[in-house]
Amino acid sequence: MSFSELGLSEAIVRAVTEHGYTTPTPIQTQAIPAVLAGGDLLAGAQTGTGKTAGFTLPVLHRLSNSATNPTGSQRPIRALVLTPTRELAAQVEESVRLYGKYLKLTSAVIFGGVGINPQIKVLKHGVDILVCTPGRLLDHMQQGTVNLNHVEILILDEADRMLDMGFIRDIKKILAVLPKKRQNLLFSATFSDEIKILADNLLNSPAMIEV
Ligand code: AMP
Repeated sequence: MSFSELGLSEAIVRAVTEHGYTTPTPIQTQAIPAVLAGGDLLAGAQTGTGKTAGFTLPVLHRLSNSATNPTGSQRPIRALVLTPTRELAAQVEESVRLYGKYLKLTSAVIFGGVGINPQIKVLKHGVDILVCTPGRLLDHMQQGTVNLNHVEILILDEADRMLDMGFIRDIKKILAVLPKKRQNLLFSATFSDEIKILADNLLNSPAMIEV
């Protein structure tokens, strides 16, 4: 199975091929068609399995194939990725940039522990794909400096770690402002009762994969 056989566009396949990937990993072989199909996804995957490309590639494909965007501040956030740590947020956004280098989509990363004003500036420029840690996103929501009214795809990456770190209340506040009609992807290495409850509340008839 190749990346193009999984249904990804030529521009995305070119970027991953140039990056040195020849064959999709098992999680990618399963997750990419499921995400491209547009439904929700529950994925059990550890770090190191290639899960990041497993969701960034099909999300990039979906966004680049639907409704072209206006420019500048009129450009709404269409995909929102929540991660437990700054390091992971930065890594995911770097992957989005890398795999999306031949697409006309913009991305940004937002996390706590650094100044908020540069982030406000970035958000004003218009971002298609926003990657963030829950606490700082909530700060932006409370200050009215982020608009999540047009999110089409929500990704919870390493959801178990986010719950372990006590982010459940923040996540619930974020979920409450998102459009009801959207695609939800949940990635987790482990499945505690708490994760199962979150998945039950969040996901509609999800495709389920485990690697
Ligand atoms: P992740 O599990 O997303 O953190 O990815 C683990 C590592 O595998 C990263 O260094 C990726 O660059 C690499 N990787 C992801 N997909 C592939 C692939 N299809 N072929 C080779 N390496 C990959």
